[in-house]
Amino acid sequence: MSSMRQRRGQPLFILSEGTERTRGRDAQSSNITAGKAVAESVRTTLGPRGMDKMLVSDSGDVVITNDGATILQEMDIEHPAAQMIVEVADTQEEEVGDGTTTASVLAGRLLAQAEDLLDDDVHPTTIVEGYQEASRIALEAVEDVTLDEELDDDLLASVAETSMTGKGTGDVDARVLAETVVGAVRQVEGDDGVDRDAVTIRTQTGGGASATELVQGVISEEEPLHADMPRRVEDATIAVLDVDLEVRESEIDAEYDISSVDQLNAAIEAEETELRGYAEAVADADVDVAFVTGDVEDLVASVLAKEGILAFDGVDDDEAQSIARATGARTVGTLSDFEADDLGAADVVRVERFGDDDLVFVEGGAAAETVTVFARGGTEHVTDELERALNDALDVVTAALDSGGVVAGAGAAEIAIADQIRERVASVEGRKQLAIEAFADAVDVIPRTLAENTGMDPIDALVELRSTHESEGRAGIISEGQTGHVGDPVPEGILDPAAVKREAVESATEAATMIVRIDDVIAAS
Ligand code: ADP
Ligand code: MG
Repeated sequence: MSSMRQRRGQPLFILSEGTERTRGRDAQSSNITAGKAVAESVRTTLGPRGMDKMLVSDSGDVVITNDGATILQEMDIEHPAAQMIVEVADTQEEEVGDGTTTASVLAGRLLAQAEDLLDDDVHPTTIVEGYQEASRIALEAVEDVTLDEELDDDLLASVAETSMTGKGTGDVDARVLAETVVGAVRQVEGDDGVDRDAVTIRTQTGGGASATELVQGVISEEEPLHADMPRRVEDATIAVLDVDLEVRESEIDAEYDISSVDQLNAAIEAEETELRGYAEAVADADVDVAFVTGDVEDLVASVLAKEGILAFDGVDDDEAQSIARATGARTVGTLSDFEADDLGAADVVRVERFGDDDLVFVEGGAAAETVTVFARGGTEHVTDELERALNDALDVVTAALDSGGVVAGAGAAEIAIADQIRERVASVEGRKQLAIEAFADAVDVIPRTLAENTGMDPIDALVELRSTHESEGRAGIISEGQTGHVGDPVPEGILDPAAVKREAVESATEAATMIVRIDDVIAAS
């Protein structure tokens, strides 16, 4: 009893000392502010006239990009609610590969709208329910505006091109890039859909003007072992060897106790015989090109060169594996059990020099299910952004083919979504109606931002977009030179995969509702 009395009136600590706790509206508003701030930071990069960001890391590395996911990843964000917006972009990138800016800007706008609702005393649960209902209507609207058109190469190239506009693709013609991308996807399209992983991107700086080509096979950065080796081999028989072609040190130590010149000569001879043996084993198997993961002794290289064999050493495991896969070769672990069965084939193996690097192209392999989009650019910043653009383009073409077609871009899909939500909201009772309306207003951020980044007055543009949507059934922001106008994006070939819009709605809704639900933040020190 007495101990009970003693405890009364003393503070009871259930959290460790130094733990910070924010509750109620304070917690909500700090989370919302952080989430909004992150989304706001990528807003100016949206669309064809979006600006780039230059991100400088601690160590001084510079990344110049227009890609939402990349910007958010590089920004090193700490606030947990802000981190959730970064996750929106990451999920978007993983699921569909494009629309990262759209998704995070939408999430930010949903948060801003939620803040106004909270200020008007709408309960968080009501906001969450309203947003979820609005998001279901939005997904139905995406279905409704999905185009009937056949997904032919021309249309797919437009989807690819749309995803690349605004990205710094150097001086390469965007249409040519887009067509290359469609060609690549078509190559790896099968009955079960597109084998996206079978398309590799390889970029290279130097060696003249920017260009892209589709290579039916793999490209690897390797230098021939010997200057006398051929740099081009047609109808090549290929070996992938996971061995070292050098004298095993331990053997020499163990077998020879060198005490005379004769013994020394004998030792050298034995070594040479061993090394020649390696080269001969390769030559006897009628190998034309050998990729060796380990080291190759100079003597072996020169014997191989004399035999007219093109060989590379120090090939990394991943490259060796993809060469094996493309040519139908089996990676061999020891030279002794090396059979004809293990060999692969390619129509041509060629080594080309770009700037200071040698690249080997292995084309038309026996199992040529892999293709490589090869892109050259002037500098590393250009090739890096080119690689991101190509990745987006490959992903959108894949998404269009595999995940439900395409919709009009340039904000037209969003205008249709917001319109459908507003139409349906009339039948909803009570305060939830406010939340659903707020969702529709949030969706407007996409066309509004596109208009703004194009130099148009965002309010005027939105009014015109809605009335044109009403009268023509479709309206987007068509950018032209320094400005833009309202029009139908479809004949302009401005098309996005339906999946990009679907995923953006889903992931933005999920993050926003999750943040709105939080009313207690307990942070350990
Ligand atoms: P995200 O990371 O969301 O993909 P982007 O900067 O790639 O952001 O911009 C995508 C938006 O830009 C989409 O809504 C797309 O329809 C639109 N867009 C792309 N090309 C054009 C164009 N030529 N005119 C107008 N809008 C375009
Ligand atoms: Mg994009």
